Amino acid sequence: MDFAARLAAVKAAHLYRTPYLMESAQGREVVMDGRRVLLFCSNSYLGLNNRPEILRAAIRAVDAYGVGAGGSRLVSGNMRPHVRLENLLARFKGSEAALLCNSGYTANVGVISALCGAESHIFSDALNHASIIDGCRLARARTVVYAHNDPADLEAKIVRERPRQGLIVTDAVFSMDGDVARLPELARISRRYGLPLMVDDAHATGVLGATGRGSLEHFGLSHQDVAIVMTTLSKAVPSEGGVICGSRDMCDLVRNTARPFIFTTALSPATAAAAHAGVAYIMAHPELVRRLRENTARLARNLTVLGLPASDATPIFPIIVGDEEKARRAGEELLRRGVFIPCIRYPTVARGAARLRLTVMAGHTDADLDYAAACIAKALRLGR
Ligand code: PMP
Repeated sequence: MDFAARLAAVKAAHLYRTPYLMESAQGREVVMDGRRVLLFCSNSYLGLNNRPEILRAAIRAVDAYGVGAGGSRLVSGNMRPHVRLENLLARFKGSEAALLCNSGYTANVGVISALCGAESHIFSDALNHASIIDGCRLARARTVVYAHNDPADLEAKIVRERPRQGLIVTDAVFSMDGDVARLPELARISRRYGLPLMVDDAHATGVLGATGRGSLEHFGLSHQDVAIVMTTLSKAVPSEGGVICGSRDMCDLVRNTARPFIFTTALSPATAAAAHAGVAYIMAHPELVRRLRENTARLARNLTVLGLPASDATPIFPIIVGDEEKARRAGEELLRRGVFIPCIRYPTVARGAARLRLTVMAGHTDADLDYAAACIAKALRLGR
């Protein structure tokens, strides 16, 4: 295999990436490659990565349990911080039980491949996250992709396929577009056809709902409507991990059959303790969620004034450029002006749909939000 030739092809397609080096905690600003810049692309929506209470919880866990879990959850790696975190997450997300996995990615792959097999149909939104797509692949199920956020197309496909068993699965907030799934309609279809509904709350937890509990709170739904909710602990919750929330039996089944859960070492106890403290912090501080919403509304207004289509539904703003090279240059121009919003390209989004994916944080000031919008105008050469 000619590695160099394949790499050259990636470069020729303007798809080559080298990561920037972050040299401080994620806040409204970050030190990056030795320079302080405004951070407008983090998934740390509530900016909690440096909260003293949360850091102290992680340090206490290191003192008590050391570093590294030393085994998988089902052998020697199941520690009190993991179990405490699961109990708190079930309370926070309003489910009977919760199962902690090592990342959102492995949670999605694990739950889908454990619950579905070759005899199943999985109905999956066209813009679902890669981890959902990979879960469908590992399940070896018949995967039917329905048009993005289109319940009518979903229903037509269910009627056509006549599934005997399976799953409907959707992101709650679409990570690259920032729109919100039409969950009440999906829940009605789930009930009508007896297909459980699974929702990925990665970008909804800490963001949607009056107290940041996510998409179910936002829509006034319960776990009667949505059988499975997956959420990450790596975005508004400032740690790592993924969690599956739902019935006790479902969680127990996944715990005992999901290969991505069984065959991996448990999360480090400090990571679980940090996630626990992060969730507890969000539960005690709903005003942070409100602040995020106010900031989101201000940026949406700023972009609208510039003539860019912008919704204030979520703090994710896709600024579509299209051409990969143009998007890359716009990202570089923003960085020169001290605003970090890198371009997102294929394979994360479709070819020719390259974009700047801007995310707002609760800690951004009004001046930050206004400056970012002004810089975007310049980077895109608006009005010329
Ligand atoms: N689901 C969605 C919608 C995501 O955006 C992501 C992360 N980008 C994941 C799942 C995976 O989560 P994690 O980063 O915790 O593996």
